Amino acid sequence: MSDKPLVIMPEDIQRIMGKDAQRNNIMAAKTVADVVKTTLGPKGMDKMLVSPTNDIIVTNDGVTILEEMQIEHPAAKMMVEIAKTQESEVGDGTTTAVMIAGKLLENAEKLLDSKIHPTVISKGYRIAAEKSQEILREISVRVTSNDIDLLKQIAMTAMTGKAAESSKEKFAEIIVRAISQINEDGKIDLKNLKIEKSKGDGIEDTELISGIVFDKEKISHDMPTLVRDAKIALLDFAIELKNPEIDTKISISTPEQLHGFLEQEEREIKKMVEKIKSSGANVVFCQKGVDDFASYLFSKEKIYAVRRVARSDMEKLSKATSGKIVSNLNELTSNELGYAGSVEEVKHGEDTFTYVRGCRNPKALTILIHGGTSHFIDEIERAIKDGLGDVSCSLKDGLIVPGGGAVEMELAKRLREFSQGLSGREQLAVEQFASALEFIPITLAENAGMDPIDVLTELKSKHDAGERNAGLNLFTNKIENTLNSRVIEPMRIKSQAISSATDVAVMILRIDDVIASSGNKKDSKSPSASMLGDDY
Ligand code: ADP
Ligand code: MG
Repeated sequence: MSDKPLVIMPEDIQRIMGKDAQRNNIMAAKTVADVVKTTLGPKGMDKMLVSPTNDIIVTNDGVTILEEMQIEHPAAKMMVEIAKTQESEVGDGTTTAVMIAGKLLENAEKLLDSKIHPTVISKGYRIAAEKSQEILREISVRVTSNDIDLLKQIAMTAMTGKAAESSKEKFAEIIVRAISQINEDGKIDLKNLKIEKSKGDGIEDTELISGIVFDKEKISHDMPTLVRDAKIALLDFAIELKNPEIDTKISISTPEQLHGFLEQEEREIKKMVEKIKSSGANVVFCQKGVDDFASYLFSKEKIYAVRRVARSDMEKLSKATSGKIVSNLNELTSNELGYAGSVEEVKHGEDTFTYVRGCRNPKALTILIHGGTSHFIDEIERAIKDGLGDVSCSLKDGLIVPGGGAVEMELAKRLREFSQGLSGREQLAVEQFASALEFIPITLAENAGMDPIDVLTELKSKHDAGERNAGLNLFTNKIENTLNSRVIEPMRIKSQAISSATDVAVMILRIDDVIASSGNKKDSKSPSASMLGDDY
């Protein structure tokens, strides 16, 4: 036998094993949680993110921050996934979820230090998570679609401390009205709701429109600005002759030939327009290009036509007006047309929009956000989406919980009581789980410049005395019944945050070997050396 070591992997493979792997992953997860920590709650700060192309985002939205950060460390990436899951499942609570996961792992490290095996910690965490779901259902409060004021408060809690704060009452009103319009016996599909943004005017001009609004103008000034009783053709082919996809060459040698060719072309376009007109359409929304000559003919026929409509808008328009998107002119008849009470061109500041109101499907809605700058409007949009997410999932489950850390404190207390009945090591894990949840009220206090120890002590004593809704109200900076102070959140934010935070913490804890192939990446640093992407 040779005395060469046995090689089973290529040389450029990075491998970290055992404790090092664990510690390295926990460190990465903690770092991610630390990044978003300062943004939590109404007194949290914002972050400015600058992309490689110098685009700027100012936000305190957890998932947005993490998505933009170009995180590279594999365990840190798993943390980002929690935020994404939270965003898609609930639409809010992304910072909370990431922070709980980070703290679960930080606390697990303490247990690892006292020689408790990762599988025992994982088991304890799983037990605690399951118990938390049970407790959550016990302590949550019912809400129905008739509790309009309560629903508005939920939306407002979601928007407190964000760019939308100054107009949160108005937005809450819009959010609750929008959700109740698309609510079909508890089934709420936020896809029915379109969010459109307009630069110019103030945010207080933000409006809810019954119908679809999209940021396109009619092609020509000579077209009508308003069409009532709109019969809408939705076309996804170009109304022009030269097909840019097919490169044809025509050789023309005499002026007569040119004339003949142009005439021929005009005749073809005329035929297309006549065919559209004969279907009964008085509005044309075309996903592709529309010729100048075609547009001239549409104007003459008093047809409102828009070109290059985004596919996503075409689909929304189709759903809203019950029109069919037609890809072959020969298929177009009156049956394929959509219907709307009116189609109108409306200008706001520099932007021009097409409003399609009174659609066949009354559930088609648009929130048109107005604001001064695009950075600001984008942040308003994120806040409104948080509000929409919170109100819709409150109604889906019909359950809400008191905010300001109240629910986390009550969970922690009951988990500790529950842990008394468990075997020694699992008990320790459940206790660490409980204290991870307390990290939420602690951070809310810290971010508001209050003393976290004082706040935690007071919260604990109130919960011990049976005040299960005691939380930190950051409007008054007092510990009080936050359900009464109307700082309320959907139960699902918490249940989802706890379940995905536990999943990822357990998954990371069970890893004892990281084998990273450097592939053809530009540099092959060890994972620990590139905790965060180089560009950040
Ligand atoms: P997330 O991304 O987790 O939703 P947020 O920055 O939106 O993070 O903060 C949510 C937290 O802020 C929740 O714990 C919520 O209870 C708390 N919160 C919201 N409004 C208040 C308030 N007025 N007083 C105290 N806490 C509040
Ligand atoms: Mg939030």
